[in-house]
Amino acid sequence: MKFHEMELNQVEKALETDFTSGLSQEESAKRIKRYGYNELEEGEKQSALLLFFSQFKDFMVLVLLAATLISGLLGEYIDAIAIIAIVIINGFLGFFQERRAEKSLQALKELSAPQVSVLRDGSWQKLPSKEIVLGDVIKFSSGDRIGADIRIIQSNSLEIEESALTGESVPVSKYIEPLNNPNPGIGDMENTGFMGTMITRGSGVGVVIATGMDTAMGQIAGLLQSAESQETPLQRRLEQLGKILITVALLLTVLVVVVGVIQGHELYTMFLAGVSLAVAAIPEGLPAIVTVALSLGVQKMIKQNAIVRKLPAVETLGCASVICSDKTGTMTQNKMTVTHLWSGGNTWTVDGVGYQPQGNFYRGEQQVSPSEEKALQQMLIFGMLCNQADIIQNDDDYVLDGDPTEGALLVSAMKAGFSRTKLLEEFSIIKEFPFDSSRKMMSVQVKDKQGRHFIVTKGAPDVVLGVCESILWDGRTQYLNKSSQETVQGAISDLASNALRTIAIAYKPVSASTVLLSEQEAEKKLTFIGIQGMIDPPRPEVKEAVKECKEAGIKTVMITGDHVITAKAIAKELGILTNKSKVLDGNALAAMSVEELEAIVDDVSVFARVSPEHKLKIVNALQNRGHIVAMTGDGVNDAPAIKAADIGVAMGITGTDVAKEASALVLLDDNFATIKAAIKEGRNIYENIRKFVRYLLASNVGEILVMLFAMILALPLPLVPIQILWVNLVTDGLPAMALGLDRPEENVMKRGPRSPNEGVFSRGLGWKVVSRGFLIGLVTLLAFIIVYHNDPNRLAYAQTVAFATLVMAQLIHVFDCRSEKSVLTRNPFGNQYLVWAVVSSLLLVLVVIYYPPLQPIFHTLPIAAKDWLLILGLSAIPTFLLAGTFLLRKTK
Ligand code: ATP
Repeated sequence: MKFHEMELNQVEKALETDFTSGLSQEESAKRIKRYGYNELEEGEKQSALLLFFSQFKDFMVLVLLAATLISGLLGEYIDAIAIIAIVIINGFLGFFQERRAEKSLQALKELSAPQVSVLRDGSWQKLPSKEIVLGDVIKFSSGDRIGADIRIIQSNSLEIEESALTGESVPVSKYIEPLNNPNPGIGDMENTGFMGTMITRGSGVGVVIATGMDTAMGQIAGLLQSAESQETPLQRRLEQLGKILITVALLLTVLVVVVGVIQGHELYTMFLAGVSLAVAAIPEGLPAIVTVALSLGVQKMIKQNAIVRKLPAVETLGCASVICSDKTGTMTQNKMTVTHLWSGGNTWTVDGVGYQPQGNFYRGEQQVSPSEEKALQQMLIFGMLCNQADIIQNDDDYVLDGDPTEGALLVSAMKAGFSRTKLLEEFSIIKEFPFDSSRKMMSVQVKDKQGRHFIVTKGAPDVVLGVCESILWDGRTQYLNKSSQETVQGAISDLASNALRTIAIAYKPVSASTVLLSEQEAEKKLTFIGIQGMIDPPRPEVKEAVKECKEAGIKTVMITGDHVITAKAIAKELGILTNKSKVLDGNALAAMSVEELEAIVDDVSVFARVSPEHKLKIVNALQNRGHIVAMTGDGVNDAPAIKAADIGVAMGITGTDVAKEASALVLLDDNFATIKAAIKEGRNIYENIRKFVRYLLASNVGEILVMLFAMILALPLPLVPIQILWVNLVTDGLPAMALGLDRPEENVMKRGPRSPNEGVFSRGLGWKVVSRGFLIGLVTLLAFIIVYHNDPNRLAYAQTVAFATLVMAQLIHVFDCRSEKSVLTRNPFGNQYLVWAVVSSLLLVLVVIYYPPLQPIFHTLPIAAKDWLLILGLSAIPTFLLAGTFLLRKTK
């Protein structure tokens, strides 16, 4: 017999497990040994060796290797060996950089791997999905993705969407009864849940019947490996730039070789010169450094509790112009405490802090005993019954398991002396209709000891009021007329205007035979009992974060399911709602088309009583207005909006698997301030990339120009090819990397967001590259000419001086690159990595100048002390010029 045909006790026996206490830790360890981890096998990974060899696939490296071959054939062994050595050193640098980037991305993947609630040794634990074994009992609820194949053993209105396996996107209801069909299709297996499918509604418990490659998903796993592009827009642009540079380089090479040969230079020398010019024109290290900068940035974000799931988001973050954020838990602490209760015209207050179940009830100033206040008592009891949360006592501490709104209702009832365990002896729960954010209600059907059945509903007061036909007033049920409706509305507004989150309680008796009502049938014709109002204090850091975003040209929009007045009160407190901005409520929003919303969306900063489905409309309207939108979410229904947003943000703690999968960014602490931190980091990463693009390209331009100038002036070549190679492939890399690690400039959050269409050379970068490249070329040439004129017989010496000037001019330039304005605006030694990188590069140059065995290879001669004055003087000129013009402009 197969699992789906068995009675539950047979399943339990067959799997040698226990549905009430789960497997023991020991047993599960044994089963992992026996059956392996619950993982799908991934495609072949690139081995380290392959990665190393892939470094040599680069076009320019191939050109170099061809050049080496030709040198070798012409008997120039020293050149050939030197070039090969440099190419290998370069290959190692690239290899280690890529390796590092790959490792950090892998670590990221593990961080965002799904967790599962597993019953082990009698208690529920969160474990990584890969540790689940056959026989494990797991629980799940709306928004979870199931981690293994399971036989369902408990179902509360459970519905699962199985399109990953069946292609059918309509969710299937799931039950626990055995099937008497030995070979049903996956779509018909109503008592089985499958790995990779998604709970769209309700909750349930299941026992694992297959893991890893044995699951239905495992059998088709090969088909599912979808490759999503992880290249960022900038990376793509740089790649295009690279192609252009290669073409330019090739043309230049041909030109130089032809002109050189016509001028009477030796063919081999010109060939090498051409190749080295081509090398000079192309910043080989650039792509690898971009990847490393991105992955290091991603690691920094992790330290600030933000996990980037899609690499391109790192860049998009810097362009964000609107953040749409949930209120509860993201802007507020999600630590709810009931402080006010209202019923039948009476208001009670209750004191106490957090989930500590101690506090007194008051009516006005007067302390009252809840046992003498009938309506109050009923409201508290029903709030406790229609509830899925649990308050667990840990020594003196009380911790919540479940939804904070429900936790607050438990605590308010506990303060009046009620206990859920005792209540459940008097009332048994027959059926649950779980809460969802669109309905904004939850209900249970309960049976008391006398066998009477009730529906108890709790939910957003205005919504609950809409499904009530009567109201409890002075102990009697009265018809809900217009005036009593207005009274209730007034009470809701009063509580909400104090920033309280409100929950109404209602009920109705039903006949005992009416089991399995649908939620529409259950939630109508109810009797309104009262409202509980709870505080949910704002997170202290959010106000400052909203302010910083404003200064950075980023608008913060609050989107909440909560009452309009509650939302307004909190938005004001946080500085989101100002005199100029508006609040739009869910009903008005629902009635609008995207175009209508577009017309006003720029003025709206709070959307209240919104259903998750509406978020997509908000994203679309904002995007049509040209905004780059970050949108947060946690539930299943939030996923479409998260996906559509430019930066989808999911909550790490309260977020469902589905929301996380749709997102580009996960907030480990669910905190709004983390989005701001990630945006800041995103802006910084982009700026850092600009910094080293500026540095590397200016160096390349300088190298080409010095060679071209010399040729135009019919001078000997000022640099020997191997020297250019050494600069380009070895000494440039470290400072560029260090720029990638630079801290943000002070004004990074004081200016507006960058346009997403911004090209690589925008905001003056192109001019900076060309002008500085020109100056570097010029001073290098000058150094060469001065020394060469002094002693035309010592060409190699003049070349060594030119080589040293080139490197020094670049190493000084790197400090300029730290700032968009001038080296004077930042402490040049503020970046430790950069200081060390420059020192190392300097040593790498000195060693080829002064270490005798390397001199013949690099065609160098030791430079005399006095010439260092010339070198340093000339190479500092460009930076002095820039600083001078900056000062001039400032004083004007
Ligand atoms: P946000 O979108 O900022 O997270 P929210 O958490 O208030 O806002 P929802 O969870 O959709 O949004 O809640 C909407 C309303 O539904 C709440 O204002 C509250 O009145 C009611 N509500 C919330 N949780 C429950 C629950 N567990 N049971 C019954 N009603 C609830």
